[in-house]
Amino acid sequence: MSDFPEPAFMADEELRMFADSVGKFLDRNAPPERVARWRAEGMVEREFWREAGQAGLLGVSVPEAYGGGGGDFRHDVVVAEQIIRKGVEGFAAGLHNVIITPYIQAHGTEGQKKKWLPSLSNGERVAAIAMSEPGAGSDLQSIRTTAIRDGNGYRINGAKTFISNGQVADLIVVVAKTDPKEGAKGVSLFVVEPGEVEGFRRGAKLDKVGLDAQDTSELFFDDLWVPAENLLGDREGQGFYQLMHELPRERLLIALGSAVAMERALEETIAYVRERTAFGRKLIEFQNSQFVLADCKAKAVVARVFVNDCIERLLKGELDTATASIAKLWVTEAHGELVDACLQLHGGYGYINDYPIARMWRDARVQRIYGGSSEIMKLLIARSL
Ligand SMILES: Cc1cc2nc3c(=O)[nH]c(=O)nc-3n(C[C@H](O)[C@H](O)[C@H](O)COP(=O)(O)OP(=O)(O)OC[C@H]3O[C@@H](n4cnc5c(N)ncnc54)[C@H](O)[C@@H]3O)c2cc1C
Repeated sequence: MSDFPEPAFMADEELRMFADSVGKFLDRNAPPERVARWRAEGMVEREFWREAGQAGLLGVSVPEAYGGGGGDFRHDVVVAEQIIRKGVEGFAAGLHNVIITPYIQAHGTEGQKKKWLPSLSNGERVAAIAMSEPGAGSDLQSIRTTAIRDGNGYRINGAKTFISNGQVADLIVVVAKTDPKEGAKGVSLFVVEPGEVEGFRRGAKLDKVGLDAQDTSELFFDDLWVPAENLLGDREGQGFYQLMHELPRERLLIALGSAVAMERALEETIAYVRERTAFGRKLIEFQNSQFVLADCKAKAVVARVFVNDCIERLLKGELDTATASIAKLWVTEAHGELVDACLQLHGGYGYINDYPIARMWRDARVQRIYGGSSEIMKLLIARSL
């Protein structure tokens, strides 16, 4: 039994069994040596995505009629949580399952769903979403990538950066302007299938501070032609609406990741201070260690309770933008504070990459930046005042 409050739905026997089977798959197919190799190579090997698809970890909330697992967001939560618990953070299945696949599920035409959802569910296709550009991250409306009508398709031109799964992805949802004169109303989403097209280039895999096994990359579109059927949905100009519709879930996923990572960092640190000795005493016996860890535990429990509540709201279709932003802001900030305090309790060993806390500290930093920075979360919360 966990020391931290679980979502109420985890009382469900079927979900517990699912969590158990996901955990066993990760133990078997992502042992520490294999994960260490992915970190050294800067990406999760493509074959592992297929293995995960075959084992039922992808497309878990896609209806069975489209080749998915037929579950819902609870199953997505289980997969995302197990990946962090087992230390396989580089495997961006959360992004694939919770962020990108739902775009196609919620906004795709019937033909698009039939075409793409089965292969996204069985691991034949890995998904990425390309919003950010060198000149536009927080301010998405100012993107410069264009998709201009040409015959029975569109020509896409532009550059994207920071794209997770950028090297392995074979289905990329690209945010582009179909009407550059318009602001939000001129934005549309396109599905690009890089294997079948000319005018697409993968750029550098970026050298990051953390998330070593994630292939965050630049992507270039140079007069890339895509058929009109690859415009997501049935008309232009829906992109911003589609993005806004899906962003609360993306933010909740990031908050969930932080909440679980906080629990892991705390467990790791409690084990460490119970073992390590200084001045003839175990570190845990110093009142400072106890107070620091008590503070960390309070943060971790509060984070988890709030995230669990947001999950329930999302399941009922009631998670609004401001509440999702509160979750992302508060939990990712608390995550940063907690891993920093936990690293401090490890002394010099906390700064050595062989110790999991060092990696957790590096990996935590980006939680406050991607998916909308903390400052952008404050802007969104302020709008609800
Ligand atoms: C590891 C990683 C993975 C990523 N994965 C993806 C991905 O898969 N797909 C994708 O599209 N993007 C991805 N991103 C990009 C990420 O979403 C952006 O980095 C983020 O949105 C911030 O944009 P920016 O980097 O351009 O910073 P900027 O927008 O330039 O912001 C710089 C600073 O200014 C602040 N700021 C900006 N505007 C305001 C304002 N109005 N008020 C106050 N402060 C403000 C920001 O909070 C920040 O502190 C990823 C990034 C990283 C690092």
